Amino acid sequence: MGVQSTDKFATKAIHAGAHIDVHGSVIEPISLSTTFKQSEPTKPLGEYEYSRSQNPNRKNLEDALAALENGKYGLAFSSGSATTAIVLQSLPQGSHAISIGDVYGGTHRYFTKVANAHGVDTTFTNNLIEDLPKLVKENTKLVWIESPTNPTLKVTDIELVVKTVKKLNPEILVAVDNTFLSPYLSNPLNFGVDIVVHSATKYINGHSDVIMGLLATNNQQVYEKLQFLQNAVGAIPSPFDCWLAHRGLKTLHLRVKQACLSAQQIAETLSTHSAVKAVNYPGLSTHPNHDVVLKQHRDGLGGGMISFRINGGSAAASKFASSTRLFTLAESLGGIESLVEVPAVMTHGGIPKEQREASGVYDDLIRLSVGIEDSQDLLEDILKALQSATK
Ligand SMILES: *Cc1c(COP(=O)(O)O)cnc(C)c1O
Repeated sequence: MGVQSTDKFATKAIHAGAHIDVHGSVIEPISLSTTFKQSEPTKPLGEYEYSRSQNPNRKNLEDALAALENGKYGLAFSSGSATTAIVLQSLPQGSHAISIGDVYGGTHRYFTKVANAHGVDTTFTNNLIEDLPKLVKENTKLVWIESPTNPTLKVTDIELVVKTVKKLNPEILVAVDNTFLSPYLSNPLNFGVDIVVHSATKYINGHSDVIMGLLATNNQQVYEKLQFLQNAVGAIPSPFDCWLAHRGLKTLHLRVKQACLSAQQIAETLSTHSAVKAVNYPGLSTHPNHDVVLKQHRDGLGGGMISFRINGGSAAASKFASSTRLFTLAESLGGIESLVEVPAVMTHGGIPKEQREASGVYDDLIRLSVGIEDSQDLLEDILKALQSATK
C-alpha cells in the first residue's frame, strides 16, 4: 500500500491517499461523522477527534495533493480564496508582501481590501524579477506569483524569482498560485518555492461541481502555522467535497493532457486566422516566455487556457461568445467541459479600463477554457463562431 517517491505522476494520482478500509472497500467511503469516539479522555480510538480539525476524506485528499506536488504536507480549505486568505493571515502584523501585477481578481481584492486592514501591505509589479531588489524591504515576508496569469497567460520564471528573493533575504517566503497549470504540468516546490496553492475548483476537481482550495509545502514550520489557522479559522471543505475532489484528482493527468492537445491545435489555428488579431497561449513558440515554458512546464505543454483578440471589437467578442455550440458561455475554468468568456465585461469587469488594457485585457479579448471533448469538434465550433462573429 501507499506510493513510493519514485512512482510516476499517474501512479501517484491513483494511489496516493487511497486506502482500503476494514471492509476491503477499494474506494474509501465518505466519512460524515463530525466527531470520533475516545476510549478514555484525550485517547481517540483512531487518528481523528473532531472533523474540523481533521477528517479521513480530507486527510486522504491532502496526502494525495502533497504527493502530486512533491511536497511533504498538504492542506485543504473551503475555497481557493480561503486558501489565499489563510496564507496571508499567517503573516505577522506589519508585514509587506510583493505580488505579481495581474493576479486573480479575488487575490487582488484580498491583498488590497482585507489583508491591508490587518496591517499587511502589498506592492504589485508586472516586472517581478527586475523590480525585486528595489521592492524588497526590511519587513517583506512574502512574494506571490501566479503563472501563467489570467487571462493574458504571461509566464514567470519561478526558479529565477526564488533565486533572486532568497539571495536578498532567505527568510522571505515565495508562494505560487498553480491553479492554471495544475500539479500535472508544473510543480513549483521543485523550484524552491515555499508554498504552492490551488483553486481546486478548477483542474484538480475538474468537474465544475466543487468549490475548494488546496496548498502544499515542504516547510514544517510553515505547515504547522497554516494547519493551526485551518483549524482556528475553520474554513474547511466538507467530507463529501473532499471525496469528490479526490475522485477528480485521480484523472487529472488524462484530462490535462487531452485539454493541452486540443488547446495547442486551437491556438495554432487561431494564430493564422484572418479574424484574429493576437493569440496568448504558452504552448506557441511565438509566446514571449516560451523558453521558460519549455523548462517549467511538463513536456513544454501550454495548458488548457487560451486567450485571443478578435477583429471587430467588443461587439464581435460578445457575438463570438454567444455563438459557440460546445463552448459554454460562463466564468470559471479547468473543467471537463469547454467554456468561453469575455474578460473585459465578465471576470475582469471590475477593473478600470485603463488598468485593464495596460495588462492586455482589451474589450475584444476572448478567454477559452478548453475541455476534453473531441479536438476536431471543438476546433470546428471555434471556426464557425469566428465566422458568424466577424461576417
Ligand atoms: C478561481 C481562482 C482562484 C479562487 O478560487 P475559488 O475556489 O473560486 O475561491 C484563485 N486563483 C486562481 C488563479 C483562480 O483561477
